[in-house]
Amino acid sequence: MRLLLVEDDRMIGEALRAALRPEGFAVDWVRDLAAARAALGSERFDLVLLDLGLPPGGPGAATAPEADGLSLLRELRQRSDTTPVIVLTARDGPGDRVRGLDTGADDYLVKPFEFDELTARIRAVLRRQGGHAQPVLRHGAITLDPATRQVQVGSEPVLLSAREFAVLEALMQRPGALLSRAQLEDKLYGWGEEIESNAVSVYVHQLRRKLGAERIGTVRGVGYFLTPVDAA
Ligand code: CA
Repeated sequence: MRLLLVEDDRMIGEALRAALRPEGFAVDWVRDLAAARAALGSERFDLVLLDLGLPPGGPGAATAPEADGLSLLRELRQRSDTTPVIVLTARDGPGDRVRGLDTGADDYLVKPFEFDELTARIRAVLRRQGGHAQPVLRHGAITLDPATRQVQVGSEPVLLSAREFAVLEALMQRPGALLSRAQLEDKLYGWGEEIESNAVSVYVHQLRRKLGAERIGTVRGVGYFLTPVDAA
């Protein structure tokens, strides 16, 4: 899962990024409206965490007044971009909340908030976005529940690290498709994070050990795919 974090407060941004990574989210962090606009124009994110009071960024930014994250949300929805957005803000008047939700926010969290509440809301929004009553992904004997982060082979629970889970989730979202190492790295790392060169192959190795070696196929130098083994 790839998140865009739009937050100008360095302390909050760093804390959120540090806390979300171990949960298996790749976090791209931008600190002004212009950078957020550019990111959303060029990449697809699974979810956006959006602060409201933001520097505008871009040319003339030094003299411009503080901009409003809601204008970015409005632009997204006007071009029918349905990327889920959770607004994070210190503004907590009921009018602000209504305005945020009316503009197309999927949820609204008032600072300061508990980190556990944020991750719970992220999962709830992602579940709703999928529109699934049963968000569980299945491939043959493997089931993966993005909401509870539980993986099973048959009826046996399998314990995965956050990053092993992220790799498996990416493969299970497109069963049978060949995903390149770069595509899988995209699910694991935010911008500017140092990518360990063999990380994906290490996680695939671990997944094979835990799920059964035959379940993940390799096309050497190209990528990985879930094999149709025991797929009913
Ligand atoms: Ca702010």
